[in-house]
Amino acid sequence: MSAPDYRAPELLANALGIKREFGADARVVAGGTDLILRMRDKVLSPKVLIDLRRISLASISRHAGEMHLGAYVTLSQMLASAEVRVAFPALVEACRSFAGPPIRNRATLGGNIVNASPAADLVPPLIAYDASVVLASLSASRVLPLMDFFTGPGKTVMEPHEVLTEVRLPLPPPRTAASFTKLGQRRSMAIAIVNLSARLTLDRAGQMSEARIVLGSVAPTAMRARAAEAILTGNEPSDEQFEQAANMAVAEISPISDVRSGKDYRKRVTGVLVRRALMAARHKLAEVGRND
Ligand SMILES: Cc1cc2nc3c(=O)[nH]c(=O)nc-3n(C[C@H](O)[C@H](O)[C@H](O)COP(=O)(O)OP(=O)(O)OC[C@H]3O[C@@H](n4cnc5c(N)ncnc54)[C@H](O)[C@@H]3O)c2cc1C
Repeated sequence: MSAPDYRAPELLANALGIKREFGADARVVAGGTDLILRMRDKVLSPKVLIDLRRISLASISRHAGEMHLGAYVTLSQMLASAEVRVAFPALVEACRSFAGPPIRNRATLGGNIVNASPAADLVPPLIAYDASVVLASLSASRVLPLMDFFTGPGKTVMEPHEVLTEVRLPLPPPRTAASFTKLGQRRSMAIAIVNLSARLTLDRAGQMSEARIVLGSVAPTAMRARAAEAILTGNEPSDEQFEQAANMAVAEISPISDVRSGKDYRKRVTGVLVRRALMAARHKLAEVGRND
């Protein structure tokens, strides 16, 4: 097998042109923290590598009620961004739980998404924050909810000639708080056994007008525990509500056993973590409430 042809275009249009020409035989390389391992293990053998480093896809900016994060934004950049920390704290919590500083300096937002691991740590908080992704090709670009992006482990709706260019996050409504929690086999540098995000929005009367519980590592793709969310919606946050929602979330999943965990353990842990994430969101809401 010959080494892939390495290209580092300066313009997105040129990267898209290479994608148009080679399709799935051309792979984007961002931080390389997933891709290079897969190439080493011969899971992937691209003919062309398109390095994104010279293309300006690493900015974080605000646009009319949304935050736009370039696909090449690294975990370290998100951790360092005061704007991201203030608006999307659960995303920052996920970054903090993620590997160690050397990986965080290289690993990108786009790579974590396109890799489509069911255990990807950034995905539950991004879905909880209603993220959309921008997929560009030479002829057009399209925006779709991140929730609709994944079709299975390692599988997405992205076409071979497309590149993920941007993630868009609507700024959360008032009286909203979200949290991220993860259980791995070790405290750090561990892929999640279960990871999840909870997000709650209160109306002026103090009832939950919106609830999101987004679970990772327990299904082929990240999933929303919609029946659990429905238990919360329209009610005041309480320990009893959280307990019922956690039990419902456990009933909604059918995880598999794998090298990291057995399915029964995954189920038990999911219940505990959902409750913990909801309580963390409520705790933050109390703080938001004081400023609202
Ligand atoms: C030691 C170690 C620890 C890790 N810990 C964690 C962890 O705690 N949590 C976690 O979730 N992950 C973890 N990972 C996995 C990995 O670091 C992340 O998934 C990371 O975000 C991937 O980003 P990247 O920029 O390195 O992607 P790359 O490896 O460059 O690319 C990954 C895939 O996405 C494609 N791709 C990348 N960017 C684009 C784009 N813009 N458009 C189209 N396709 C694109 C590539 O072609 C490739 O198929 C770890 C990996 C290692 C080696």
